[in-house]
Parts: sequence; C-alpha cells; structure tokens
Amino acid sequence: MRLIQITIISVSLIIVACHSPKTPPVHERVIGQLKIGFDIDDTVLFSRDNFLLAPHISDDPYHLDYGWVNQHDSLHSVIIQPIGDLIRFLRSQGHEVYFITARPGINGAAVGRHLSRELGFSVIMDENLFFSPKRKDPKSGNKYTSKHEVISRLGLHVFYGDSDSDMIAASIAGVRGVRVVRDMRSVEEYSKNYFGDIKSDHSPGAPFSEEEYQQFLSHGVGPYGETIYPIYLPAQKPVDGE
Ligand SMILES: [Mg+2]
Repeated sequence: MRLIQITIISVSLIIVACHSPKTPPVHERVIGQLKIGFDIDDTVLFSRDNFLLAPHISDDPYHLDYGWVNQHDSLHSVIIQPIGDLIRFLRSQGHEVYFITARPGINGAAVGRHLSRELGFSVIMDENLFFSPKRKDPKSGNKYTSKHEVISRLGLHVFYGDSDSDMIAASIAGVRGVRVVRDMRSVEEYSKNYFGDIKSDHSPGAPFSEEEYQQFLSHGVGPYGETIYPIYLPAQKPVDGE
C-alpha cells in the first residue's frame, strides 16, 4: 500500500515538474521585470546619413519622405554600439525593451526588420516598436511630443532619448528620462531640440553655449535634471603649457 502511495506521489511530482507555465503576453506585468524604452534616431541608430539622403516632398527642409527614410536604414543607419550593448545587457537580465520614435509610421515595418537584424531579437511594429509623431496645436501653433502617451500606455520605467522632447515626454509620463549624448556629427546637422540649440546664437530659447554643454556632460546632468548616459567623453580641456 505504502509503495503504491509513493509511486502516485512520485508520478504527480514528475507531471508537475514537466508542466511549463504559459508564456505571459507581451504587456503583462511580471514582478521584477523592467520595461525600458528607447528613442531611435541618435539614441539607438546613428541615422544622420539616412536623413541627409532622404528625398523631400515639399520645399520645407523638414518635410521629408518618411516612407523612404523608414525603408533605407538598412543602407544608411548603424547601431550606436554602446546602446546596442546596453540593450543586450537589459535583455540578458530578463527586462523588456521597447522603441518609440517620432518618425511617421509609413513603411515602419522596415525599421523593425532593420533593428531585428542588428540587435538579434524580434522588433515588430505596434508590439515593441511604436511610431509617435509630434502634433501641432491648431490654436497656439506649437508642436509637441506625443511619446508620453505611449510611455504611459506601456507602463515603462525608464526612457532613453537624445532630444529635449524625449526628456519632456518622460517627465510628463512620470518616468525617469536618461539623456543619450548626441553624436557631434548629428549636432552639427541637427542642433535644434538639443539643450535648446547649442549651435545657435545666444537667446532665451538657446541659452547654452558649447562650453556650457560640455559642463553639463562633465557633471552628468542635463537642463531638465535628467541623467546623462556617458557614451561620449566630454572634450578634454588643454592643459596649461600645451
Ligand atoms: Mg532622437
């Protein structure tokens, strides 16, 4: 009798051990798991050349053919290696990674395919890749970020981005914003929306000079109080006598 009981218990334990729990859906909260968001341009991808080569669809220099841009990252955009390493590290710890870009979503699946190939995991539009263009208020004429809506909906814990509007979106959503330092080649081409505009003449909307910008970097804090992710070292000041 005792042998039968032991046999039944053993078989039960084996069945329980072999049963694999159901894989949680993508957006289900898992205790201890972080949800980390990344902007794309000048945060994950160095895409300056893709933007410089893109055709324009009007005389407005900012009115680009984003259908073309989204289909040509594979030719002209490269992963910013320290951020690629950070993403691999976060995923190795079991955390979830999401991408939120202000590009319009036309042909957006191609961006997902490029990121998938370069980062080694599936990046799929509307699953872990979201297109969230700026909007324009018809009354004030102000353009404003809509990324905070996606950050809140996904329940992100941290958001990495290079632009002022990325830090504002994180702040509105109530999550930690971390500033990824913009490659100086991109600062030369696209200085707006980056510490105001460090290439512009001094004005209330562009109060920080390049020297002050270096002070921000050396202290690891940005103008919104955000943490700066130090992937580029501040320029070295010449030592006296050199
Ligand atoms: Mg960006």
